[in-house]
Amino acid sequence: MSIFAYDSNDPELILSCCLDDINLDDVSSEVIFPLNSKWKDRSLLYSTVQAYAALTGWKPTLSHTYCIKCSCYNRPIRGGKDRNFSAGSLRKGCEWLINIKSTMYDSVPITSGKTARQFKHIPVVRDGVPVIVSKGSFKHTGSCDPSRLQQVLQPSRSGAYVKSISDTAFFTICTMYKDNGNVSSNVIRQILKSQFPANKNVSKAHIH
Ligand SMILES: [Zn+2]
Repeated sequence: MSIFAYDSNDPELILSCCLDDINLDDVSSEVIFPLNSKWKDRSLLYSTVQAYAALTGWKPTLSHTYCIKCSCYNRPIRGGKDRNFSAGSLRKGCEWLINIKSTMYDSVPITSGKTARQFKHIPVVRDGVPVIVSKGSFKHTGSCDPSRLQQVLQPSRSGAYVKSISDTAFFTICTMYKDNGNVSSNVIRQILKSQFPANKNVSKAHIH
């Protein structure tokens, strides 16, 4: 069984890639994005990387047309106490990348200079033009350590969940406090739980 669907006219051309039925803990990136594999176009390859990244807890970015990188590629690692969690990612200095080359080139005349007219070849990257994976570096290095848990941890640090707690939840807590003189942490926990994503635990830190 293959995760790829190939073109009937070109048995090497990947038309789609399905990650639904595989256990990503057992399958490495090299298998999903093999060196020299040919993809229908860059959009297909990039959307597959996006799907793969979402399932494994990180985010890709497109860079310089021919490169797909982990979003914290080569970003400097800031250490010590001044780490600004509210700025978002803690992941820095990663080296995950895929380089692609196009299968189509445009000839563009070089007009400057007095010598005979020359042409330079510019790779074409657009929908419908197949691309080839020419290089893959599939290690999340530096302090980049993707995990499903980290996806939850990071927005939590930035306060996104705290901000998104609805007024109703706060109102409920306040009303209970007014009526009873106190609200048990267990009750707060239950109310917050209804506000948080399913896999996010409500910890002591959220209550106080
Ligand atoms: Zn990374």
